[in-house]
Amino acid sequence: MDDMQQKARLSELRQKIDELSYQYYTLDKPTLTDYEYDMMYRELETIEKAHPEWITADSPTQRVGSKISGGFEKYTHDRPMLSLGDVFNDGELREFDTRVRSDLGGEHLEYVVELKIDGLAVNLIYEKGIFVRGVTRGDGAVGEDITNNVRTIRTIPLRIPSASPHIEIRGEVYMPVASFEALNAQRRDDEVEPFANPRNAAAGSLRQLDPHITAQRKLAFFAYALGGNAGIDIASQEELLSDLKAFHFQVNQEYRKFTDIEAVIAFIHTWDDKRDSLPYATDGMVIKVNSFAQQAQLGNTVKIPRWAIAYKFPPEQAKTKVLGISVSLGRTGVLTPAADLQPVHLAGTTVKRATLHNEDYIKEKDIRIGDTVIIQKAGEIIPEVVRAVAAERDGSEREFIMPAVCPSCGGPVVRKEGEAATRCINPACPAVIGEKIAHFVSRDAMNIDGLGDAIVQQLLAHGLIHDVADIYGLTKDDLINLEGFGEKSADNLLKAIEASKSVGLARVLFALGIRFVGAKAGRVLAESFGSIEAVQRASVEDMTAIDDIGPRIADSIASYIADEKNRILVEKLAGYGVVMTAEKRQLLNTTFDGEIVVLTGKLTLMTRKEAQQAVEDRGGKCTAAVTKKTTLVVAGADPGSKYDKAVKLGTHIITEEEFNDWLHRE
Ligand code: NAD
Repeated sequence: MDDMQQKARLSELRQKIDELSYQYYTLDKPTLTDYEYDMMYRELETIEKAHPEWITADSPTQRVGSKISGGFEKYTHDRPMLSLGDVFNDGELREFDTRVRSDLGGEHLEYVVELKIDGLAVNLIYEKGIFVRGVTRGDGAVGEDITNNVRTIRTIPLRIPSASPHIEIRGEVYMPVASFEALNAQRRDDEVEPFANPRNAAAGSLRQLDPHITAQRKLAFFAYALGGNAGIDIASQEELLSDLKAFHFQVNQEYRKFTDIEAVIAFIHTWDDKRDSLPYATDGMVIKVNSFAQQAQLGNTVKIPRWAIAYKFPPEQAKTKVLGISVSLGRTGVLTPAADLQPVHLAGTTVKRATLHNEDYIKEKDIRIGDTVIIQKAGEIIPEVVRAVAAERDGSEREFIMPAVCPSCGGPVVRKEGEAATRCINPACPAVIGEKIAHFVSRDAMNIDGLGDAIVQQLLAHGLIHDVADIYGLTKDDLINLEGFGEKSADNLLKAIEASKSVGLARVLFALGIRFVGAKAGRVLAESFGSIEAVQRASVEDMTAIDDIGPRIADSIASYIADEKNRILVEKLAGYGVVMTAEKRQLLNTTFDGEIVVLTGKLTLMTRKEAQQAVEDRGGKCTAAVTKKTTLVVAGADPGSKYDKAVKLGTHIITEEEFNDWLHRE
């Protein structure tokens, strides 16, 4: 490449990296894998190294993170929060070691090696031992004040044994894998796009404007660094980790200390396979010079410390061949294409299929039958095809064509304008009914054990069921005549079917498979309306008046109810004795009707939880932060910044004693 071409490539890379950073940091929606991004970044660094005169202050190599998105107050860190340089193999790590040793003039050296937690860095500020502020890394110099959200993370102590007037504790907020999977399962039920990986889920959860949502997301925190020196006498990273633990922070216990880089490398490789079984996501290891004096001697660049480096794990990707593309049907009739793959080992499992999402995805990525492809697990259980390796084509590959008829019933399929999904519109399609039934009987829905897919397909083929309600009309004779059934298994299944009649309205609403109505919406609706009739009578406005029920869910329920077929189905279920009522949440009285209450300061007459329950039992709602919407603030002893904010906004403030009086009003 000549200079002109290199310059053009440089500006192309900067533009692309800026765009990717925006998608990753601000939207929490990466469109390329981290590895692909890292390789692009490397290319940019290489060009800039060859032409330092081309480096500008706005180059991505000179900046941490991305621009701040707004919505939160800004906060300037007392010492910048830097990123980390990275290496991708043992050789590069040895080069790092050689550079550090030479910069230190051959002094004795120790490394502390920690797991690199794939979350996002936050800065916690404590004044005289009290947690006062939580801030994102932001652009490294200035972060966003997310105090109310940080407060909801249970592993963050709100008080530490330190008299220091100002101390900044830094670490990683992350989402445990189990919480991440549960969150994505819920999002799929609610037909909301799942998060790409636990890091994006954690970032999206932490930047919520409503701390209640953050609280539900079950985030956790590992502490690993200090901000400005708060006059604490700590000499090394090892000592710091032990002090943080004594402060009751969660400190990742997998760290080890070494004097020799070969021992570091051996330790890193002990994680090659093991890391998949950790309850949190890691994307590498961080190697830090242990001594703080030596860290200071080595110093920082504008973006990264020169005394630490991240060893990034190779991406969890594999190369394989697409043997065919098959289409399966979901309960809403959507045709989902998936690649049938030559089996390949990836992150601890053998992968034979990978989702291709929809027709557009295949077109955009130009994935053909017979192609060599890269697949990956992006923290998700279901692997996906990242891209086709066009260079390995030999001309025998075939383009995929979306079937013009349903592969199950042969009926017509349609793709509505503006939608990515192609659907089978035959209400009697056995594949769709099969999926509907699978959803209906699943654990969080009617919980009917023993009605697996093979049995459902037999029942459908014998004409014994045509919809979910027919399950309740099944007799022992029906079952015994089916392949694989005996007396006992038939009895057990009938027992499970009978028991499911009383699971209650919340699960029934979820089991019906109404679009966007997940398990949680089912619960909320059941508690608010108490019976299916009340839900059927409710208007969209009645429904959206309930917290957690937005217009999308309400509209979907309204159109479900408006459909005569669904009314008949519900009646049929009721006719079989399926219970369609729920305990309605009983209000004690309406003292706090319509009030949005914030509790602050120390309460002495009751716990905070009791006070919150008392408000909700009387028709009010408690929120964590004082905003313009807050109608009432209950101030206990020594109230903090919420009180000040309430005074500023002129919000009605009452004492705990007054609050207690209100509770005893009739
Ligand atoms: P980084 O994630 O590579 O490393 C720095 C971060 O590591 C720190 O800020 C901290 O949050 C974290 N960390 C975790 N455990 C740690 C520990 N024990 N000690 C110290 N730090 C620890 O750097 P970054 O600046 O946060 O992000 C850059 C990376 O983000 C890129 O290398 C890329 O992987 C990813 N990215 C991806 C895209 C994309 O499109 N996929 C876009 C932008 C960035």
